[in-house]
Parts: sequence; structure tokens; C-alpha cells
Amino acid sequence: MSERYTVTVDRDACDGVFACLVRDPRFVEDDEGLAGIDAADAESVERTAASVRATFADDRIADAEQAAAACPLDAITVAEGNGE
Ligand code: SF4
Repeated sequence: MSERYTVTVDRDACDGVFACLVRDPRFVEDDEGLAGIDAADAESVERTAASVRATFADDRIADAEQAAAACPLDAITVAEGNGE
């Protein structure tokens, strides 16, 4: 079932361990060696110095939640809805 959700990476907390990439390939290494989010399947991706946040509308929230659970620094947040 398709649903809308947001995935946020706290770039201050992220330490480039990349446990997330193994769980969900939408996480990618960015130009600063931290976790970014591939914009290809996202409705939108916003990156600031402190965070990167993407909105998705698909059936892959479980993958994102697994990546969040795997992050040793709790840098990933997954929230249902638009995250507003
Ligand atoms: S697992 Fe967490 S700390 Fe590691 S790259 Fe992904 S978001 Fe960053």
C-alpha cells in the first residue's frame, strides 16, 4: 500500500558509518561523506547544513524504518505524513 512519509537524516549526528545504505539503497554517500538521500524516487529532497529531508509516496516505508533502526547514532527519523 502506498503512503506518504518523510525521511530525515540529522547531518550533525551522522558519522558516515553507512549501516543505512545496506538496509535501504535510497541512502547514498554525499559529497561531505555523510548520508544523503537519492532524489530519484522521492517527491522532494531538501538539504541544509544540519539535515536532509525527503518526502516519499510509495510502499517502502519499512525499508526506511529498517535503515533508521540500523543507524548506530539514531541519525535517521521516519515519520508518516508530510512531516509538517
Ligand atoms: S547509518 Fe546513520 S550514521 Fe551511518 S551513514 Fe547512515 S545515517 Fe549516518
